Amino acid sequence: MTTTEAAPGSTGAGSISGAEIRLEDVTKRYPGQEAAAVDGLSLVIPAGEIVMFVGPSGCGKTTSLKMINRLIEPTSGAIHIGDNDVRQQSADELRRTIGYVIQGGSLFPHMTVAKNIAIVPKLLGWDDDRIRSRVDELLELVSLDPGKYRDRYPRELSGGQQQRVGVARGLAADPPVILMDEPFGAVDPITRVRLQDELLSIQRELRKTIVCVTHDIDEAIKLGDRILILQEGAQVGQYDTPEAVLASPANDFVADFVGAGSSLKQLSLSRISEIELRRPTTARIGERTDEVKRRAESNGDRAVVVLDEHDRPTAWPWLRQLKGETIHAGEQDLVNLDSRATLNDALDTMLTNSHGGAVVTGDRDAYLGVVDFTSVTDFMRAQQEAVERDHQAEVPAESNPEDEHVEEVTSDDGSTR
Ligand code: ADP
Ligand code: MG
Repeated sequence: MTTTEAAPGSTGAGSISGAEIRLEDVTKRYPGQEAAAVDGLSLVIPAGEIVMFVGPSGCGKTTSLKMINRLIEPTSGAIHIGDNDVRQQSADELRRTIGYVIQGGSLFPHMTVAKNIAIVPKLLGWDDDRIRSRVDELLELVSLDPGKYRDRYPRELSGGQQQRVGVARGLAADPPVILMDEPFGAVDPITRVRLQDELLSIQRELRKTIVCVTHDIDEAIKLGDRILILQEGAQVGQYDTPEAVLASPANDFVADFVGAGSSLKQLSLSRISEIELRRPTTARIGERTDEVKRRAESNGDRAVVVLDEHDRPTAWPWLRQLKGETIHAGEQDLVNLDSRATLNDALDTMLTNSHGGAVVTGDRDAYLGVVDFTSVTDFMRAQQEAVERDHQAEVPAESNPEDEHVEEVTSDDGSTR
């Protein structure tokens, strides 16, 4: 489908493979209900971006999402993906070209992981070899070892692993558009952060158009290139970047929804990638331990980061913990931070280990460096000072206690500003 040029200012690594989605005056009335569930929603979702639909329960997020792949038929209005009107394709055909990921992954319990992922490629008539290599590629992408997981059944996986397979399945036929409905709602908080980071890292490579529903404003701020804040009847409260929504909520509803702790929320806006990382001594699996120790000592390091042959960190031992002749992978799973993780996530992770820091990884979990408390607090202080400088430079705004924009900003027009 449509491939568009990279948006100005975008920093993604891959070229955009997503397609633009346009909703024009889309309405959904459920039979027997007076109020429309979605009432005249208009919206442009740019190709290659993640747009988060966020809002309170019942405001019409799921209905809006499902109209895009016609799991729900709009009562009126038009939806285009790239140059195609979704009504011109059969609903079945359409769903094969749109990835769909829901809470828990919704895997078929009687099918193996590989079979679950292969559902759409099979429907599309791919040959067995192509399907097999695609399945393995996707399992790698969602950080599941293909050899270990492809033949397992869903019940043999943790919730987080099932969700990963669900994401792999959504990506299977390389669709330009992925729809996600509360995808990480059912997993524990630590797993959720990892899955979010993985999604960001996958997106950095693939640049799909992803529309993702959540009721969690922090998740929306973290994942979204843009956030659509919906009020009752899918009325647009605000449609903008997370920065803009936090800095200037369009009305009282948005301000309330975003919450009072917005300076703390700034922590969710800043990414590890903005911070300068430390580069302590690294060691390769199989290297001689005494040489590694010597190297670390001459660098003044008391710990080393152990890397495997793909540059992925596997352990972060203190020198005194290094035993045996050669370096090995380590026994415990090292909790790494993706460079797209927020400072909020970073603080969480740092609090759970003895180093007071965290190992940071980039694409495909490759090692980038180490972040510690000092670098985070220094960064935050510098940001705070910058904000205060800006405030002092600003001409004092005229006082405007009653917000009079409410009427205007709740209009149907949610198109890009
Ligand atoms: P959200 O995902 O934001 O929680 P939904 O899109 O599921 O909201 O629902 C929006 C509104 O439409 C709600 O008032 C809900 O009760 C109603 N609704 C959703 N699905 C149906 C349905 N199948 N039949 C009737 N009403 C529905
Ligand atoms: Mg919903």
